[in-house]
Amino acid sequence: MANELKNAHAFLILGRSLARINEYAYTLASEILCTEENEKKRPCGKCASCIMAKNKTHPDINICGRGRTSVDDVREIVREAYLAPNVGDKKVFVLEGADKFNAQSQNAMLKILEEPPKGVYFVLTSTNKNALLPTVVSRTFPVFPEETENNTDLGNGEDDEIIRQYTGAYSDAENGEFPTETVLAAYKLAKSFFDGGQKEAILLFPKKREDAAVYFRVFMLFSRNVFVYKITNGEIPENADIDFKKICTKISARKAAGYYEIFEKAYLNNDEFANSNALYAYLSEKI
Ligand SMILES: [Zn+2]
Repeated sequence: MANELKNAHAFLILGRSLARINEYAYTLASEILCTEENEKKRPCGKCASCIMAKNKTHPDINICGRGRTSVDDVREIVREAYLAPNVGDKKVFVLEGADKFNAQSQNAMLKILEEPPKGVYFVLTSTNKNALLPTVVSRTFPVFPEETENNTDLGNGEDDEIIRQYTGAYSDAENGEFPTETVLAAYKLAKSFFDGGQKEAILLFPKKREDAAVYFRVFMLFSRNVFVYKITNGEIPENADIDFKKICTKISARKAAGYYEIFEKAYLNNDEFANSNALYAYLSEKI
């Protein structure tokens, strides 16, 4: 677990695939409960706690959400949270799809998120941060696991083609070659952006200016490709991957052109954003 996470007791796992972030949340829960002394090895997979977690029988990992999102359900969670752990000295509540809790239910969890009983942790997952109360978000530590996954997910043939296409088009003399892992991560984010996950995708833009620049250029090319596809009635760019066509059905030519402009402007004015928050504010306003 990264250093800054160690003192947190409520986490918000954000991403596009609920299944994937739920899985990540479960691993985080196992890590919190793992009794291996060397914290770098947690979850160790070998201690009694990890074995129970692996078998999905750990009595102190409470999976919540999953259709049980009423105020009464939240009250039940709160009641549970004040009971002592069954095995060790910690217990974890995983609230899957936390955005499915309505405002009233979310309000009911504010107090416990703010100040959980000792040894109690909350791990919330969400694919739609905008459906969460800002007061819930501010009480949790945000984690974006898909960002890290993207960087390690290299090496199959399809990805190689994408890298070739996107680095080829957007490397330039001034900046040299773009790092391939950044291009690939940007491409994947572009796909989720155009596949309907606009708001969430914006949150995943990198904070580092040089990396953001790569993202903008990849997004520009992606918008342009969608635009070309739409106005030529289905001419798929060479080497486009299989999701591309599907994504194109969801978006109009006009919209694609509009996105192109937004990302071009972001790219050209990248240096003028005071910080990443200013950038997010610009993108959220435009999109
Ligand atoms: Zn362990």
